[in-house]
Parts: sequence; C-alpha cells; structure tokens
Amino acid sequence: MTPGGRGGFAALDNCVHCGFCLQACPTFLATGDEADGPRGRIALMRALEQGELAAEDPGLRYHLDRCLGCRGCEPVCPSGVGYGAGLEAARQRLSERRTASLLARAALVAMTSPAISGVVYAAARALRASGMPGALAGWGRMRFAMGMLAATKVDGRSAGRAVQESDRPPDRPAAVSLFRGCVMEGLFSHVHDATIRTMAVNGYETREVPGQVCCGALHAHAGLHAAAQAFARANVAAFDAGAEPIVVNSAGCGAQLRAYGTLLDGDPRAARFAARVRDVTEVLAERGPRPGAALGLRVAYDAPCHLLHAQRVAEPPLTVLRAVPGIELRLTADSAQCCGSAGLYGLLQPELSRAVLAPKLARLVEDPPDVLATGNPGCVMQLGAGLRAARARIRVEHPVEVLDASYRAAGFYR
Ligand code: SF4
Ligand code: SF4
Repeated sequence: MTPGGRGGFAALDNCVHCGFCLQACPTFLATGDEADGPRGRIALMRALEQGELAAEDPGLRYHLDRCLGCRGCEPVCPSGVGYGAGLEAARQRLSERRTASLLARAALVAMTSPAISGVVYAAARALRASGMPGALAGWGRMRFAMGMLAATKVDGRSAGRAVQESDRPPDRPAAVSLFRGCVMEGLFSHVHDATIRTMAVNGYETREVPGQVCCGALHAHAGLHAAAQAFARANVAAFDAGAEPIVVNSAGCGAQLRAYGTLLDGDPRAARFAARVRDVTEVLAERGPRPGAALGLRVAYDAPCHLLHAQRVAEPPLTVLRAVPGIELRLTADSAQCCGSAGLYGLLQPELSRAVLAPKLARLVEDPPDVLATGNPGCVMQLGAGLRAARARIRVEHPVEVLDASYRAAGFYR
C-alpha cells in the first residue's frame, strides 16, 4: 500500500483529463463511449475511491468490467498515470462487495486448480488430437472456443527432441529456471520444449523447479486478491532456493510474476523473486541469439500487451526473430493494440472481445503473412481462432517456435 493506505488509486492522481489516451484504447475505439475509455474509467475509479459511487453501482461495474486491462493507455499518457495499478485497486475494491461470476470461478478452477485442471487439459488435448476443433472452428461462442483450442495445436515439426551438441560450444553456459504455468503446461508444452531447446543452443541449461503453481494472473485480473497472493507465496517459496533468472514464455504470467513484490506488500523474498523474472526473448537476445538456417517466411509480429505495456519488453522478440535468416519481418499495423484476449475477457465479454479483434483481423487478412508471431497463450488462441473463423491460412506461433524451426533446419537437433 502507498502512504495513506490508498493503494493503487494514488497512481491515478496525475490524470489531467487531456484525452491523449483515448485513441490507444481498443474498447473506446470499438464503442466510441467515453466511459469505455481510460479517461472515463479513471473518473469512475476516483468516484469509487472517494465514495461518490458505491461499489454496487451498476454503471461503474459495467464499464470497469469491460476494460481489457491491456494498459495500452499507459505509454501514451504524458502525465505518467499508472492506469493498471489503479484498475487493480478498483477491482479489488469491487471484489470485496461481490463474488466473481459463477462462469469466471468455474473457468479459474478448470484452468488453474491442479487437481481438476490436469483432467481438463488431458480432455482438451484428446479433443484437439481428434481434429474436431479445427473442423468446427468459426464464429459463435462454441465454435470460437473450438478455434481457440485448435490454435494450440502442436505443429509436427515442433515435436520434442533432444538438443545436439552444436559445432561451436557456447561461451558461457548459464543456468536458468523455467516457469511452467498452467495453460502453458496444459496446452503449450511444445512451446516449453522449444524454449528449452533454443536456450540450450544459446548456452543455457534449463532447470526444472518443483512445487511451482499458476502465476495467479487470472485471479488478480478478476479481483481475487487473496487467491493471487496465495499463488504468489507458493511460487516465491518454490523458487527461493536459487538465484538464477526465472525464464517465462507467457507474457501474461511474466507480468504477474514481476508484480509479486507489490502484490505481497514489499516482502523482500517476493521482490527478489520478481527481479529474477525474464521473458525468454530477453534472455535469448542477450546471446545474439545464435542464427539458424534460412526459413524464407513472411513473419508479422504482434506484441502481447502484457509484454509491451506491462513489462516494457519491445525489442527482444524482434531480435529473436531477426536471428532467423531469410525471414521477411514486420510489425502488424496495430501491434501495440490489444487483440481482445485478456485472460478470461473473451469468455466474460465475448461481443466486445470480438469487436476489439475485428480490425486487427481485417488488416491481417488484407496482407497476410505466413506466420503471425506473438508471445502469449491467450493471444495465440484469440488470434488463431479469429484467423480460423476468417478462413485465413496464417499460422500463429510463439517467436521461440520460429527460432526453433530455424535451428532444426540448421541441424542443431537430433
Ligand atoms: S490518463 Fe493520461 S492521457 Fe489519459 S486523460 Fe488522463 S492524463 Fe490524459
Ligand atoms: S487498459 Fe486497455 S481497455 Fe482498459 S482503458 Fe486502458 S487501453 Fe482501454
């Protein structure tokens, strides 16, 4: 808490209502409604803090629930308003007066509670392997969900293989720990495999850390502060024995893990943990990374909000992709803008989520790359489902998967 006990609300104090942030806000652009933009929401949050609006106020809840939490409004704000911190404080205040919806709670249990999520992910993988999700993908709630699952599909060339000794040994082998997460482990283990392989080629030995759990990001976004803190404490304890970097390949998890110091009220162990967190592309970029074989692909990079805005990691994913000779790399036209995924947002606000996605999809379909690269599971699923529904043949992959394919083509793996 900040002095005076105002928590994240204090981060909103500098807002001068200039409106520079409006054009960076995907929900404002989709609806044109001031209350669906940052300036309007800041006014609502201030009214909540000052008691002018009750936490039960339906209008307040409606517009705060429709915020993606993408923080696209932060970097464009000339006054340095900390919108994300204010939003978290407001959502925590709302959660004290209401429980998360049944749908949100069911989704959180299914996705993050180890006893149940193991069964859910196994069933999802079996369904994915049947090929049905890809065939059923389309618009509409169920068909979009099928498209999301199909978008997690393991590409044959990404299957796990051992790393072979490269012909030129790395200069300084170094240890890192891998944060596995829940959705990443359940549906994107091929990205973990690609992470471990590409890190090995660049001289990193990846250590597995037992006892780690979900990062708690989805709980924090839903205002479930105590649950998010419980996950944070468990992860801090699990990783406490080491001092090596904690490598993360999910932007949403990385942003949450870096916030553990604040989340646990300045606990020094949590602050130490947070300082060790690195996105996989940052670690690879430090080593070059080593170039692979040419791939001859047109690749468009779309920045996950939780990497670009929340963690301020912009260049490293591009550095990783540039290590692949022969690719024609570009940023998507609206790379800095949210795709509408935002954790459980697509489930809880399906219409606005799709409305936010629509302009990004239209631009992609207009000038399609071979691969759309992005480093967050939610974005891969949202963009992958949208592209399937639009019948566009564009693969959506994590940047390390592209590098991994290049390394495989170069013969770095058995
Ligand atoms: S948040 Fe920043 S950019 Fe937006 S209205 Fe306030 S001061 Fe202006
Ligand atoms: S966090 Fe994203 S959706 Fe929410 S007000 Fe800021 S730009 Fe708009």
